[in-house]
Amino acid sequence: MPRVVPPRGGSISSDELVGRSPTVSTTLGTQSSFTPKSKGRGRKSRNGNDEMRTVRLRLLPNGSQERKLRRIADAVAKLWNELNYARLVQYRVSGKVDFKGTGHEFYHRYKDGLGVNAGQVINLNNWAWKSYFELLRLYRQGRLPKFMGKPSPPGFWKDRLLGRRELRILVRNDRYYLEPTNGGEGYIVLKDWGLKIKYAGRVKWSGKQGVLVIKLEGNRWFAYVPISIGEKPARSNPRGYVKGIYEKIRIEEPRGGNKAFIDVGLNNLFAVVFNHTDTAILIKGSSIKAEYYWWKREVKTYQAIRDWLRNHGFESWRRYHAFHLHAVYKQHERLRHYYRTAIRFLARIMHEMGVDEVFIGYPYMLSQNNGNEYNTNVWWFSKIINWLGDVLEEYGIKLHVVNEYGTSKQCSICNANHENGRIKRGLYVCELTGIKINADLNAARNIAKRVGYETPIPTKILSHIVTTNGVKPLTPMEGVTVETPTVNPAPKGRGGGHPMP
Ligand SMILES: [Zn+2]
Repeated sequence: MPRVVPPRGGSISSDELVGRSPTVSTTLGTQSSFTPKSKGRGRKSRNGNDEMRTVRLRLLPNGSQERKLRRIADAVAKLWNELNYARLVQYRVSGKVDFKGTGHEFYHRYKDGLGVNAGQVINLNNWAWKSYFELLRLYRQGRLPKFMGKPSPPGFWKDRLLGRRELRILVRNDRYYLEPTNGGEGYIVLKDWGLKIKYAGRVKWSGKQGVLVIKLEGNRWFAYVPISIGEKPARSNPRGYVKGIYEKIRIEEPRGGNKAFIDVGLNNLFAVVFNHTDTAILIKGSSIKAEYYWWKREVKTYQAIRDWLRNHGFESWRRYHAFHLHAVYKQHERLRHYYRTAIRFLARIMHEMGVDEVFIGYPYMLSQNNGNEYNTNVWWFSKIINWLGDVLEEYGIKLHVVNEYGTSKQCSICNANHENGRIKRGLYVCELTGIKINADLNAARNIAKRVGYETPIPTKILSHIVTTNGVKPLTPMEGVTVETPTVNPAPKGRGGGHPMP
């Protein structure tokens, strides 16, 4: 696990629902959260190692399998909703929940169709209620960060507008197994329902499997397989072992003892400075930003049409609701791809540069304008931190999170707060020395100072841009690292095409 140091006042590790819809404005750790069991992050596995990862596989069911999956998932959602409703009523009446009684009752009601897997749904609901109570306690003590608001009890698995149930299946760790046929595909066998479904995707890790989650996302089925890496299966469940590529997370060792400092933003997705060199790295987010806003507009447009039709009594609103959900899904998938590409690339470069520790700024306020957007940004930022931490761990590099409040205002050259320091075009100008510096690199240098490191003023900047086909250098001559393929620079005139001085 990366050493993620949460900033004061809040935890950044949102154990989010595996593969959940991205736009859920999340109150970290409540109903939109998922049991740590299936995610494993931050949970020690039995051999005491903290080595758990979740592999995401695309399922390719045939027609009858698809119908069966839907039937099962519908029963799972019904179980969740009925159980949750019974508990909600108890809670409203008495302020308490009888976990044992309700759990027992609903287990027996659903065990015929779902088998022991019904117990997994109940466990998850138990966990959701318990974290609600825990959050409520913190809230009443005034210990929750302001943006989180008052926590609410676990919600229902339902699309609010259509009233349709959200489709999701939980399978106990000994009630399924994987049968890889080659590196990129295989079969997943669900014992309780006689299903053998084809999957596509690479299983990166070997180890003992946990609770499987199957989920319908934007009309595609995905399987999430948590793996305790390197751990052997229980004797009672010898098939509960996933054979992947690596037996352990740490694949490489650090090549040196250098430190890197990262500022995260939208224009420059990552701005990185180092303590050992005056070379800095910028990874431009232009394409991410453009695509983010494009999908955002799509989402809004469909939403507006849908609402108009609905308010005027036209049944066709349902179609636009479907378009809307699809746009939400696409937006999420694209951003996910971009971020993960950028993170892989950055981690490799830092490894090549002999880094063994990375400090990343936790944006104090990403967007104050809009509550929903703010939540979305916080959610993405937590994802970025977790992904980066996971990848860095493969290189044996540690990650620390630093509260970056004020780091963009402060001058990293003379330490003053120049009133007009941050000027146009992403440059920060020191009024005392007249030195100009890229504003995000300025912030990154301040992050370094905050944790007691000095960094040389960057004179050589390697700029890169994230594209659909990977990360490309914007400074072709300098941007080439050992493993970076030489590619054409990004097309001209796309804005921000030149590195900052
Ligand atoms: Zn200054």
